[in-house]
Formats: sequence, structure tokens, C-alpha cells
Amino acid sequence: DASRLIAPDKRGEDLDTTLRPQALDDFVGQAQARANLKVFIGAAKARGEALDHVLFVGPPGLGKTTLAQIMAKELGVNFRATSGPVIAKAGDLAALLTNLEERDVLFIDEIHRLSPAVEEILYPAMEDFQLDLIIGEGPAARSVKIDLSKFTLVAATTRIGLLTTPLRDRFGIPVRLNFYTVAELEHIVKRGARLMGLSMDEAGAQEIARRSRGTPRIAGRLLRRVRDFAEFADAGTVTRRIADEALSRLEVDSLGLDQLDRRYLDLIAVSFGGGPVGIETIAAALSEPRDAIEDIVEPYLLQQGFIQRTPRGRLMTQNAFRHLGLAVPSSYQG
Ligand code: ADP
Repeated sequence: DASRLIAPDKRGEDLDTTLRPQALDDFVGQAQARANLKVFIGAAKARGEALDHVLFVGPPGLGKTTLAQIMAKELGVNFRATSGPVIAKAGDLAALLTNLEERDVLFIDEIHRLSPAVEEILYPAMEDFQLDLIIGEGPAARSVKIDLSKFTLVAATTRIGLLTTPLRDRFGIPVRLNFYTVAELEHIVKRGARLMGLSMDEAGAQEIARRSRGTPRIAGRLLRRVRDFAEFADAGTVTRRIADEALSRLEVDSLGLDQLDRRYLDLIAVSFGGGPVGIETIAAALSEPRDAIEDIVEPYLLQQGFIQRTPRGRLMTQNAFRHLGLAVPSSYQG
């Protein structure tokens, strides 16, 4: 469902960069990742060398692109960005790589979606800073090696399991990003409100934070919708009541679950007695792509303890039945 409000995919509003933190110290949350990056960036700068290649892993909207931009800024180098599905041919990647300057950051989003032919080009580029290109065809074909600047590849993926092992092994610095706590999101919401010149009390910020599914991109989106609502209702300050009214209208529930989350849980509860049920069956019944369910819907439900992944499929927990307001089946083992 492309219109899904809380879908943590990228929309035009990310182009509105007012909310994007610009420095490592402005970046809220992910304390461990931040602390590690600070050390590695400092060390690379002190040596005057390119930072080792970095792989960010985590659900959409948690700040992978933002961190990559911040890293380039802190390193004092250029930032170039592309994404796996955009690089169609080996030549496209070759053109990008040959244009990099020493120590530049090249960001590749959705790196798990690179084609195998493009991935082949990337291996020697990452390892030896060389391009191996075949020029010409047939008997006249010859291979040429081109030296590249020593650059840093920063890549992002939603699921590390989708990466080939040789690619994964070429990243010296793997960084996992986790869902944010409500306190961290509250901090992000307050900062956003301040930047937008929107008056908001503590409880209002907390309400938005609680319903942001652990995801800054969703916090930003909900904040904008709450602002629209508050302005329309001519409410001076965003209070818990205003935030709650706005978010309830958007059908975002008390834990941030939206219609698709509830359809997913309802399906397992009602049609499959709580599971276990296979992901393919769920995707077909919801008419949603399996990838979207695995990348966007399930990580948060797993983190909330609403579902479990078992070898025989997805299994709903008793907490999920309770959250939906359904009776737990008496013989239920989930
Ligand atoms: P990803 O690349 O993981 O999908 P982005 O880096 O594009 O996520 O971040 C999504 C949105 O959330 C951006 O608008 C960004 O400004 C905001 N954001 C992400 N992380 C933070 C953070 N720690 N603090 C404040 N805003 C954040």
C-alpha cells in the first residue's frame, strides 16, 4: 500500500532536510554505533587515510543515510550517493568510482539489490582500489586495470541475510542500527518541533514518540501531520490530547501500529488461529510484497514481542491477541 502513512520508506519529505542532524553530536540515539564511528573517523583522520568500508544494517528510516552523510562531513570529504537498484550496468558503477577523489564517501543504499555483474566490479574496487574492465568484444577484447582513488564505501541494507558472503566480508566496519527508545524519539520530536517553530508540551511530544514505531522517519512524518492538525484546529500548543486526536484520525494506534500492521495480525489471529503460518501465505493473503512485509512490518512486531519467527512460520504471541482486543484461544501455545 503505497499510501501507507507510517511506511518508513523514503518520500519527498526527506528532501526537507531541516530535521536531518548535521553532526555526530546532533544525532540522537544509536549510542554504541555513534561511539564506534567517532573512534574510527578520528583514527582515519589522524592517519590521513580513507576510512575502512562501513556497512549499516537495520530497518528503513533509522538513520543510515543520515549517518553516512554525517560521516562524510566529519571526515571533511565529498559525499556521493546512489542505490543498488539504480546501478543498472557495470559501466554505471565504473563511472561513479572513477569520479571519486581521495578519501571520498560513496554511499550505496539497498546494496543487497546490486546485480551480480555490478557486484563483480565492486570487489576489486573495495579491496585494491582497482577497476578490472573488459574492453571490446570477441577476440579483440582485452582487460584493463584502472587505479581508483582510495575511497570509503558506506553501504546500507535492511537485512544482512540478503547480502552475498563475499560482499559482506569486504566491509571492515559493520554497524547494526536498532529501533529507538521512546525517550530518544521524544528528544527527536522536541528538536523537530523547535526547528519548525511549533509549540508543544512534554506530554504531546511523548505521545508522538510512543506512536512512532521506534523510527525517526515516522516520528518526523507524524510530527508534520500533527502540526497540520494543530494549525487547522487553531490549537496554540500541541498537548497529549491534540496529538492523540490527530494520530487517532490517522489510524495510528497507541503503540504506533497502523492499518497494515493490524491487518497482518488480524489475518494470523483470525484465519490461522494465531499460526504458525508461512510468510508466503501471509503475503498472498494480504496482497503485499513479501519483501515489504519482512522489511517494514515484521521487524517492529518482532521487537514488540507480538510475533515470533519459527521454523514452521510466524506465530502470534498472547500479547498480540490482547493488543488486538481478542480472546486468547484456550489451547493456545504461542
Ligand atoms: P535510512 O537511511 O535508515 O532509511 P534516513 O537516514 O534517511 O534513514 O533517516 C530518515 C529520516 O529520519 C530523515 O529525515 C532523518 O532526518 C531522520 N532521522 C534519522 N535518524 C535521526 C536521528 N538520530 N535524529 C534525528 N532525526 C533522524
